[in-house]
Amino acid sequence: MRIDVLTIFPAYLDALDLSLVGKARRDGLLDLRVHDLRDWTTDRHRTVDDTPFGGGAGMVMRPDVWGKALDDVLGTAPAAEVAPAAGTARAAGAAPAATAPPRRVLLVPTPSGERFTQALAEDLAAADQLVLACGRYEGIDARVAEHYRHTGVEVHEISLGDYVLNGGEVAALVVVEAVARLLPGVIGNPASLVEESHGAAGLLEYPVYTKPPVWAGLAVPEVLTSGDHGKVARWRRDQALARTAERRPDMVARLDPAALDRADRAVLGRHGWFVPAPAADAAPAPVRVRVRRGTAADAAALAELAAATFPLACPPHMAEADVQAFIAAHLTAAHFAAYLADDARYLVLVADAGRAGPVGYTLTVLPLTAGEEPDAADVAAVVTARPAAELSKVYVRPAFQGSGVAGALLDATVAEAAGRAVDDRQLAALWLGTNKANRRAQRSYSRHGFVVAGLRRFRVGESLEEDVVMVRDLRPATGPGAAPGTAVGETTPSR
Ligand code: SAM
Repeated sequence: MRIDVLTIFPAYLDALDLSLVGKARRDGLLDLRVHDLRDWTTDRHRTVDDTPFGGGAGMVMRPDVWGKALDDVLGTAPAAEVAPAAGTARAAGAAPAATAPPRRVLLVPTPSGERFTQALAEDLAAADQLVLACGRYEGIDARVAEHYRHTGVEVHEISLGDYVLNGGEVAALVVVEAVARLLPGVIGNPASLVEESHGAAGLLEYPVYTKPPVWAGLAVPEVLTSGDHGKVARWRRDQALARTAERRPDMVARLDPAALDRADRAVLGRHGWFVPAPAADAAPAPVRVRVRRGTAADAAALAELAAATFPLACPPHMAEADVQAFIAAHLTAAHFAAYLADDARYLVLVADAGRAGPVGYTLTVLPLTAGEEPDAADVAAVVTARPAAELSKVYVRPAFQGSGVAGALLDATVAEAAGRAVDDRQLAALWLGTNKANRRAQRSYSRHGFVVAGLRRFRVGESLEEDVVMVRDLRPATGPGAAPGTAVGETTPSR
């Protein structure tokens, strides 16, 4: 690869004689040439800048000086020794080349450019020639990039980040480092490129450690010294996912769900990211879902969600009219407004997907006094811990069922309930009734620490339903704890 850097401070680029890039140059893997832009000036003062049209502070770099320099190094000058770039106006009349024309790329660093990324570095590593035009002052006359774009040169105006440097030389150093290390033979062990941050996996790299095993009182994570390669790989993947979720949520939102296994999804779920089922019109991407307490503003959206999800949880033999009557009697916006207004009696938690609105909710009915009997008389016999609250609803939109959202809602509900006190007594248990036939739901609840306590009967319209009553002890140091990322079915409606 050939790289040309044009600058008014050639000495700034001396660092490119050092380290791996310097070695790559000496080994002939990289033909790197640094040019002094002032060599293309014609006046006595070697002027490269002038005052801005329209007025204002600072100076702007002249397009005529840049044009002469770039024509020479890009080979776009009429009498250039380098062949013109393919597709340019000037090359249009040239005889077709027998082989593919060289790919020449003009890179113009500027804070107003597209962000320079690893993906762009990988793309540029396949080019034949990169030309870096380092601006100074207020930058380069805008016609320079426009002109070369119009003449068919591949031009990228690139930014290192959202800050302003004095000149483009640092950006040139960055681009050369990032691209050169991807060229064959530059990095001694190419395997070290595979799991790096911003690579094909779209993740940040996991934390890395070396000897000594304990330093400043900090020990290396035990798994890394276990010799178990499978466990090390899983730990590293978990760390990469967790780090990315914590530091770069924008990257999580771009992950390809096809590349996320069950364990990956569990890690993301612990950080509030869930993968919905694919929609007809859109490929799924991880979505950030925050579990929070409901507010009065949620009433209408929760009623809509309840009306959409409640029928899906009803046993097939239940009459549609009964289902609708139940919704009208218990799940309208007015009902939710009442639940949300009475936080001594009701705990409403919402799984909030931001602009997509609520994708799930739980409704817990709290006892008002420590001795209050739970809702159904026959439940009193099986739920012995007091005070106890009823987890009345756990509903999740179909697209998010199996995504882990229900598990996150359940965990949050258990945590909230465990922090509640009635008559100065900590809530001792959370109970729920779930349809006896729904084994999947029962398995899911048991993964979240609920154990079967007995049975109860209840009526929805004409149907007499049988529920399994499950109880989650909320007192400290009991229950196996939640297994995050697991799917949870629906509780059967009881009010
Ligand atoms: N007036 C310009 C603006 O506000 O966008 C800033 C010009 S800056 C002082 C001078 C030169 O530094 C730019 O032409 C560019 O070469 C370089 N530069 C500054 N910040 C940069 C960044 N974030 N990324 C890439 N190059 C940058």
